Amino acid sequence: MRSVKPGRAPSLMAGIVSVFLVIFGIFFTYVLYFISAQTNLPIWLFGAAWTTVVLLSAIYNFYNVFAKKRFSSVDIVDRNEEADPLNEHLSDDKKYCPHCGEKLAEDYVYCPNCGQKVKEEK
Ligand SMILES: [Zn+2]
Repeated sequence: MRSVKPGRAPSLMAGIVSVFLVIFGIFFTYVLYFISAQTNLPIWLFGAAWTTVVLLSAIYNFYNVFAKKRFSSVDIVDRNEEADPLNEHLSDDKKYCPHCGEKLAEDYVYCPNCGQKVKEEK
């Protein structure tokens, strides 16, 4: 499995945006608190939830700016490591060699065109 990591500069930008959204969220929650007091509805909880989510986003993004080991944005797996569950229902995808694209019979273990293994032996 390989993975794609978010860039440190894009993470820094997203982290800075998240800090502004946290500051907005604090004021937003403060305003909603007064509306909640007048209406007897706890709508300040929406502001608190917003602030929590953007705070987590800020932490995630600043972690990816400075950490030696960043979180992955995308994991890249071969189809024999983790098959797409939709392929069983929607596509005849597994009838083609993943290495060269040659059309294959269902029971082939090795591709007759490129010789690569196309199926785990049982
Ligand atoms: Zn092949």
